[in-house]
Amino acid sequence: MTTRSDAIIVGAGMAGASAAYFLSGGRSVTVVEREGAPAYHSTGRSAAQFTVGIAAATMRRMAQASRAFFAAPPEGFAARPILTPRGSLKTAAIGQEAELKAWLDRLVDVGADAHHVDAAEALRLFPALRPDDLAGGVWEPDAQDIDVDLLLQGYLRGARATARASSWTPAWRRSSAGAASGS
Ligand SMILES: Cc1cc2nc3c(=O)[nH]c(=O)nc-3n(C[C@H](O)[C@H](O)[C@H](O)COP(=O)(O)OP(=O)(O)OC[C@H]3O[C@@H](n4cnc5c(N)ncnc54)[C@H](O)[C@@H]3O)c2cc1C
Repeated sequence: MTTRSDAIIVGAGMAGASAAYFLSGGRSVTVVEREGAPAYHSTGRSAAQFTVGIAAATMRRMAQASRAFFAAPPEGFAARPILTPRGSLKTAAIGQEAELKAWLDRLVDVGADAHHVDAAEALRLFPALRPDDLAGGVWEPDAQDIDVDLLLQGYLRGARATARASSWTPAWRRSSAGAASGS
């Protein structure tokens, strides 16, 4: 039997699940996942921190652009908040002040709430730091804990609900004997 889809997405991690969600309204979407379940790889290993403090500029802007959706997803998307306050502190040793300033500039550049803290304030925020050569830090109060599974399940549920037809097609499985097989 031949199945036609408006969109075929390879991989049911966070990238594929979110693409399925946003593409699915009125379209047929097929998500192809080679493992037996979504989020088996990177998504399932996430440390669950939402921060725009990312070195890559494109990802930093994408994270900032995602903030509004995570903070206020559509009605029914998630049963509890996806984000909960945490804050993030990046510290620098004496001699690394220029790198710290560059980091702060990057955060401010994408509209993040972030500011410089001196060594005393960094120690107050995180007393386990060694004070010997601590120059200070950048405090990002808007960094949050993100419920990765809640977000993923919201995307997948939403994609299934609004796609004309959606399916999970494991394209690759390992047999019980360990041999690879395609389908
Ligand atoms: C240890 C760790 C900690 C992290 N902590 C954070 C964090 O705190 N905050 C944060 O924002 N990010 C964090 N990340 C990064 C984040 O988890 C990843 O950027 C994100 O999950 C990537 O999602 P993805 O969908 O691109 O990849 P994945 O989740 O890896 O999904 C890719 C999917 O594609 C499938 N696939 C691949 N090839 C094929 C194929 N040929 N056919 C069918 N299916 C295929 C795979 O099986 C997999 O399910 C962390 C990553 C790691 C590893």
